[in-house]
Amino acid sequence: MKNHTNNNNTAHIAKKCSVESAEKIYRVNRWGDGYFNVGEHGSINVTPRYDQPNLSINLQEVVDEIAAEGIDFPVVIRFHDILRSQVERLNRTFRKTIEEADYEGRYLGVFPVKVNQMREVIEEIVRAGKRFDYGLEAGSKPELIAALAYNTNKNSLTILNGYKDEEYLKLALLGQKIHRNTIIVIEKFSELTSLIKLSKSLNIKPVIGLRVKMMVKGRGKWESSSGERAKFGLSIAEILNAIDLLEQEELKDTIKLLHFHIGSQLTDIRAIKEAIQESSLIYTQLVKQGVPLEYVDVGGGLAVDYDGSQSTNDSSCNYDMEEYIADIIYGFKQSCDLESVSHPHIVSESGRAITAHHSCVVTKIIGEIQPGGKSYNTRKKTGEHFIVTNIREIENSLSVDNFQESYNDVTQLKEQAMQAFKLSVLTLDELAKIETMYWRILKAIEKLSQKEEFIPEELKEISEILSSQYLANFSVFQSAADSWAIDQVLPIMPISRLNETPSKLCSLVDITCDSDGKIDKFIGEEAIAQHIPLHQLNDNEDYYIGIFLTGAYQDVMGDMHNLFGRLNEVHIVSYDDDPKDFYIEEVVKGSSVKNVLSTMQYTPEIMAQVVKKEIDKQIQRGKINPREGVNWIDFYENCLDGYTYLK
Ligand SMILES: *Cc1c(COP(=O)(O)O)cnc(C)c1O
Repeated sequence: MKNHTNNNNTAHIAKKCSVESAEKIYRVNRWGDGYFNVGEHGSINVTPRYDQPNLSINLQEVVDEIAAEGIDFPVVIRFHDILRSQVERLNRTFRKTIEEADYEGRYLGVFPVKVNQMREVIEEIVRAGKRFDYGLEAGSKPELIAALAYNTNKNSLTILNGYKDEEYLKLALLGQKIHRNTIIVIEKFSELTSLIKLSKSLNIKPVIGLRVKMMVKGRGKWESSSGERAKFGLSIAEILNAIDLLEQEELKDTIKLLHFHIGSQLTDIRAIKEAIQESSLIYTQLVKQGVPLEYVDVGGGLAVDYDGSQSTNDSSCNYDMEEYIADIIYGFKQSCDLESVSHPHIVSESGRAITAHHSCVVTKIIGEIQPGGKSYNTRKKTGEHFIVTNIREIENSLSVDNFQESYNDVTQLKEQAMQAFKLSVLTLDELAKIETMYWRILKAIEKLSQKEEFIPEELKEISEILSSQYLANFSVFQSAADSWAIDQVLPIMPISRLNETPSKLCSLVDITCDSDGKIDKFIGEEAIAQHIPLHQLNDNEDYYIGIFLTGAYQDVMGDMHNLFGRLNEVHIVSYDDDPKDFYIEEVVKGSSVKNVLSTMQYTPEIMAQVVKKEIDKQIQRGKINPREGVNWIDFYENCLDGYTYLK
């Protein structure tokens, strides 16, 4: 009996240790920001409501339910509660800070539509933001058209950025007509002249914001969003000219907002502090000159700690939401108090921070590409070349005492073999034997060296050389565009088996016919790593991996490389009364082959007819029997209707 209890205890301790080591390998708590962690059951836990920590969803159970419903992977999983939670967190934190600081203005945030334009996302954000008068920001005509239809809360703002033609400006004035608080942010001086003309001819008074080109530069990948050479915004000279012009036109009273945006993913809090200092100086001076400003829009830039390092790495940041908000509120309060100017209402346009966490891509590993591939029969033949014989001898005599020497020898012999082959001294058969033995020896050396306490530096590269590529059923270009385009690091990890030590070092390759279609930047224990530890694939067991924090930009920036289209989507809503704490609210079908072909101007119906005609021809010639022919036609048509990814 006593023994039994003891056993249980040790089992429990072993498991617990693994959960901790899984956390160490994948850093879930750090990038998970309270929404993701490693569960005792060895799967990822999702706690989608920051105000209800007991509500916990096992991601493996979500994946099982998706599979049981017959929905094909890869799948985008959206957690609507995480979106809600982030909207609430941002607004509550602003309100709390405003109260604590005795700040006199309000917070009236807007969500920038470009970060995730999906209707369901916009609807959820508008719904969650209603009681905070949280609005939308549009940066283009189509986004404005969406905002006019969806931002129906009369008390929230609709901020209009981006370059504007007359039609865009007219749409903005339509917003004014239907009592939306649309603020037209002037990005370029010429927009002002067309706006003045248009508003006079339509007899609608606009509300104007002026975007200032700041001197401070954001740090990180988007630092060119500000500074003298920035694409958007007015220089100080242009701001003063704009004010003069509006005064002449008797429209000075329409200038209500000062706008700046120094870049996305601001990794260093110092850039934010500097931006607040600079913008608050401009604000107080303009107000003192009699410009009737009421709002300051601090733009986007609130960063997401993708790699969990809490550093100024490009994919990280050295601050959190609380600190960001405190810097804005206290910064403006101090500058305004100093100049006896009243505190402006604060607008911010955080997009990444609102949406990144709410969606992830889950896909299956469908194969492993091992260095060396399938082994070849290496049986000795009489008269074989001495290089083959020498390598065979190395393999046969390999031991703890000579593995380092063997490594040097085998590496050299392999190079010699390549030379010999080029000189037609080695046959293909001999080369195949050498390759097979080479990889076997490397694997054996790796095993032997792992038993040693000290591993010589040059043997450490063996693990890299032997690392596998796991083939994942997805397209980097569709689902993780920034990973390909700008080396963004996204958290990637297995969904389950987290209480098992991962034994393989891997990189990931996707199913596109493009050698760029791979991911080889991962969160490492210390720095960014080229490989990620994953588990050995088991026969008859699906191995799922998740790509996390894809809700900002990645969700909507994907392209049609290789005609892999949009993914199947599953919307998860948490529900306390459910035994699993969730239900699938909606399934949105991804692109069918037909859809993607049509986008590229094909007509699938005609294509089906062409193939049918060819099959009919073969039937008439007696080459295909009629029953078989009909099956082939059905098969082609079913493929047209099917999913673009691998089955
Ligand atoms: C892109 C953009 C944003 C959103 O930035 P995030 O870093 O995603 O918060 C906000 N405002 C403007 C003007 C933008 O161009």
